[in-house]
Amino acid sequence: MNALTFPILRMLTDGKFHSGEAIASHFKTSRATVWNAVQDAEALGVEIFSVRGRGYKLPRAIILLDEQSILNAIGEQRAWFKLEVHDHLESTNSYLMKKASAGGAHATCIVANLQTKGRGRRGRSWQAGLGASLTFSLLWRFQCGASALSGLSLAVGVALIRALHEAGVSEAQLKWPNDVLIGGEKLAGILIELQGDMEGPSAAVIGVGINLNLPSNIKQQIDQPAIDLNSASTKNINANELLGAVLKHLAAVLSDFEQNGFANVRGEWLKHHAYHLKPVRMLHPDGRETTGTAIDVAEDGILLVKTALGEQRFSSGEISLRANVS
Ligand code: ATP
Repeated sequence: MNALTFPILRMLTDGKFHSGEAIASHFKTSRATVWNAVQDAEALGVEIFSVRGRGYKLPRAIILLDEQSILNAIGEQRAWFKLEVHDHLESTNSYLMKKASAGGAHATCIVANLQTKGRGRRGRSWQAGLGASLTFSLLWRFQCGASALSGLSLAVGVALIRALHEAGVSEAQLKWPNDVLIGGEKLAGILIELQGDMEGPSAAVIGVGINLNLPSNIKQQIDQPAIDLNSASTKNINANELLGAVLKHLAAVLSDFEQNGFANVRGEWLKHHAYHLKPVRMLHPDGRETTGTAIDVAEDGILLVKTALGEQRFSSGEISLRANVS
């Protein structure tokens, strides 16, 4: 990225017009250089209004993520975390996976103001935008092996729900295995990638994307119903405070998970499962579907579904759950 692109974007976060001339003189450069930097931002998907005679502006004012505000919001556990706030990363998970392989420290948290190639499960993509999304990844090292980490993405979901409810977003619910929904629409996703041996020790890179205020051009790229906090909540959610709260709850949930696995938060997870005792469709990778009623979740995160053939158990690997609305 052009070295001036993010400094200029920072200047534009007030949502007001700034003339090319004023920006150029502020950075002691030429208007052509400013124009190039703005082009770079647009190439990364940042929408910038450019009006002759008035200059450049973002569609609306935005608040960028800021290390000190996040640490303040974490509270007592702030010393646990090694926080890195980046202006731009293609994928916080990819970046942290590399760092983890190179010996990155436990509880390293990588946050990106702009993530441009976010990933979902099985090669799917995660859409995000500047000031529109909260995207971060957390590295957590476990003594146990990767085989004991089944149920981890569900436990992470519980931490997200606690933070969202604390922020006043009480409508947020979970969807097995790894999504947060409001009114059946997707608000947040979790992507967990593991390193290490099945026997241990192991490391999890826990990626989270939460929609704050998605512009229509980003929403259009999402092929399932999506929602953001701005439209779902009357509360004014501050991204720094929300991230601090999520990390605080993750610290508690993950410490508990190290000792007890998913078992201790299983009841809480079930209470918030959007499709508990509801008709569901389980989508198999080969296109088959199994229909039934979601009746329980096991201590290893397996979903139990009552079907015409009896009770069936689904592990999250290749399966997607959808509501069965007929
Ligand atoms: P599963 O139920 O198996 O998790 P999923 O379709 O939700 O299925 P994920 O890998 O969790 O899959 O998430 C990636 C998917 O999420 C994308 O394919 C897209 O449909 C959707 N998506 C991408 N970006 C966003 C976003 N910002 N907000 C909501 N949904 C999104």
